[in-house]
Amino acid sequence: MNAATEISNVDTRAIQAMDSASYMHPFTDTKELAAKGARVIVKGDGIYVWDSEGKKILDGMSGLWCVNVGYGRKSLAEAAYKQMNVLPYYNSFFNTTNVPAVELAKAIVGIAPDGFHHVFFTGSGSEGNDTIFRMVRRYWDLQGQSQKKTFIARNNAYHGSTVCGASLGGMKDMHAQGDLPIPGIAHIEQPYYFEHGKGMSEDEFGLKSARWLEDKILAIGADKVAAFIGEPVQGAGGVIIPPRTYWPEIQRICRKYDVLLVSDEVICGFGRTGQWFGCQTFGYQPDLITFAKGVTSGYIPLGGVLVGDRVAQVLIEKGGDFNHGFTYSGHPVACAVALENIAILKRENLVPRIHDDVGPYLKAKFEALVDHPLVGIANAIGLMAGLLLVRNKATMERFDANQPVGVVCRGHMFNNGVIMRHVGDRMIIAPPFVITREQIDEMMALIRRCLDATLDDIKARGWL
Ligand SMILES: *Cc1c(COP(=O)(O)O)cnc(C)c1O
Repeated sequence: MNAATEISNVDTRAIQAMDSASYMHPFTDTKELAAKGARVIVKGDGIYVWDSEGKKILDGMSGLWCVNVGYGRKSLAEAAYKQMNVLPYYNSFFNTTNVPAVELAKAIVGIAPDGFHHVFFTGSGSEGNDTIFRMVRRYWDLQGQSQKKTFIARNNAYHGSTVCGASLGGMKDMHAQGDLPIPGIAHIEQPYYFEHGKGMSEDEFGLKSARWLEDKILAIGADKVAAFIGEPVQGAGGVIIPPRTYWPEIQRICRKYDVLLVSDEVICGFGRTGQWFGCQTFGYQPDLITFAKGVTSGYIPLGGVLVGDRVAQVLIEKGGDFNHGFTYSGHPVACAVALENIAILKRENLVPRIHDDVGPYLKAKFEALVDHPLVGIANAIGLMAGLLLVRNKATMERFDANQPVGVVCRGHMFNNGVIMRHVGDRMIIAPPFVITREQIDEMMALIRRCLDATLDDIKARGWL
């Protein structure tokens, strides 16, 4: 297939005009976008995408952390086509089920950590966290402890964009719009060593930051706290990798105060950290796991909740009707695609490959970026990595708030053919699992070149 011939059919200007006339984008300043014109992505293959001008771009972000098996997988398209022909839709309400949903639940339980035997399907990660919010409160209700309602989450966490997801999340810009968070949610500080761990070893900081949870539980009263929720590695917050002492201590505290532990694995789940789930990489056993994104490699929307035995048994034995669900819970086409996606991950050994091969390779190359004059810190785990741009490496001085160095850097990346996302002054990547060592070299060369270009650019702007 020739990318150029397909792309030549797309009239970029016309699409941009229609885009700004009618399409309101998520997380976007519509007015600003209309003035600039959106970049039109028209095709993907492997780890690359092409825009409507024919430019080939290495997708260092796997779309939005989801296209884990890479673009252009015919077997995923075929799984959807086959299922649509047989049964495009049926619901799971009212005593009915469908074959792909059942098979997928079994497949996910098959790769889940010990103690998980049930799956609840949703259409997205946000809906997964909304489901957990209701499920956990229902659980404590059934245990005769309906006063155990409060969720504790973290600043700079991302748990989705529904009212509940945004409330659980700790994004100030999201809370500022729509009067969030909703009641019954408290936040503690994130385990970001660079920002909060001055004068301590990483291990000490891991324990200290976990104990902020204990402080919060004691302040609220353990009899009122329902659950703690966190991402194994904060993704949208800028790939914040916690110290290895953090999660085991969080687990100890949750057990001590009888607080349920929720692992939001929408990014980390299905292999991103080099094991099937991030909680396995960090050594803790949650009660509930949220998943989405990587379950279908983003080919079709699907999310859900892995419900641990402790919660599932109570809901099933004592719960009666759980008055919650979605039209697309257990959607047969989405489930058929997810089944094939998991089959690909297994067939091609993509998860162990991250653990043993491309993960350590990326880590070595990426963390070496710290020798660059603009890079203060650089860390990677599995196939996710982040670095911090600083003004002065010796003092770790940051750029001023009115010097958006991350935006400038992202611009150079995109213009030079690599997608690297910015989160404030952090630059992050999460490439597709199929990336090869040669392609990691190619990506790292592009990143280095763009860091140099960023340095020249900000010197010219007088920011240094
Ligand atoms: C993306 C994401 C979500 C939200 O998933 P949607 O499918 O966009 O609703 C929730 N949690 C985490 C950790 C995410 O990265």
